[in-house]
Amino acid sequence: MDCARDYKEPEQHPAKAMPPIHESILGQKSLGCQGMRIHILASGSSGNCALIEAGTGQDRVVLCLDCGIAQRTARELAEQAGLSLTHVDGVLLSHHHGDHSLNVLGVAARAKAPLFAHEEALSQAKRTRLSEVRRRGVEVRAVSDRHSFSVGPLTVTPIQLPHDAVPTHGFLFETEGRRAGFFTDFGEIGVLQEAGVLDGLDTLVLEANHDRRMLESGPYPYHLQQRVGGPLGHLANVQTADLLASSAPPTLRHLVLAHLSAHNNLPELALGAAADALDQRGLGGIILEAAPAKGYMAAGVS
Ligand SMILES: [Zn+2]
Ligand SMILES: [Zn+2]
Repeated sequence: MDCARDYKEPEQHPAKAMPPIHESILGQKSLGCQGMRIHILASGSSGNCALIEAGTGQDRVVLCLDCGIAQRTARELAEQAGLSLTHVDGVLLSHHHGDHSLNVLGVAARAKAPLFAHEEALSQAKRTRLSEVRRRGVEVRAVSDRHSFSVGPLTVTPIQLPHDAVPTHGFLFETEGRRAGFFTDFGEIGVLQEAGVLDGLDTLVLEANHDRRMLESGPYPYHLQQRVGGPLGHLANVQTADLLASSAPPTLRHLVLAHLSAHNNLPELALGAAADALDQRGLGGIILEAAPAKGYMAAGVS
């Protein structure tokens, strides 16, 4: 697979010159980094998968967040990140939709790693129901809204999001003073505007699913347009921009727009709306990029 084709050089937010962290973010395939790094392997309705890497040496952990793509593809993309999908320390499930849950059980079983998931999310898909979990010998650790848990040096806090798979969670990841957020698949921004949720983030992966005009005039039938654009659907670029304009923290260094629709959005529209919002917020020097549908991209501050 030619993943380099999909890789996009980070765009520089026009408000300020690229900060010196730029060099340390590009080409992050080496291990033993300090801090935390998010490796996005796939993003969008054709499948989602990301690896969260934190700590060093004996303390180093890697979590797999969702796996809605073929395991083989995920393994190959992980190798590009210098990581092994078969040695992850845990698998996290955001919600039961197939573009996220398809292979979470398979990845957890192969890695002999625990699956961190809300039990209702597991029970809603045949592929992850309890009998399957038992058959594959996977240990489930239940997660719930705002209840933090630790995996090695990484603290994970699930944040429940409004989406038409109940429950759906986004996640905050914290280690050694670094804080990252990963939020896709939600239709309203209010929960992330609550005091404290986005505070102190240096890295944010945030949904920018569709452009409203493209959705309205695009190929989706009316009922699907309503679902995607509704309060339990996905964020429009304008909502992502509203969230950034109201709540992007001054600590933010790296913003990745994610889960872009292949039919109802264009990276330049999403990036333009986000850049305007960051300007409005008075934030500069932020690396801003859009995650490719499939292909390796790293985000994080070392
Ligand atoms: Zn999704
Ligand atoms: Zn979903």
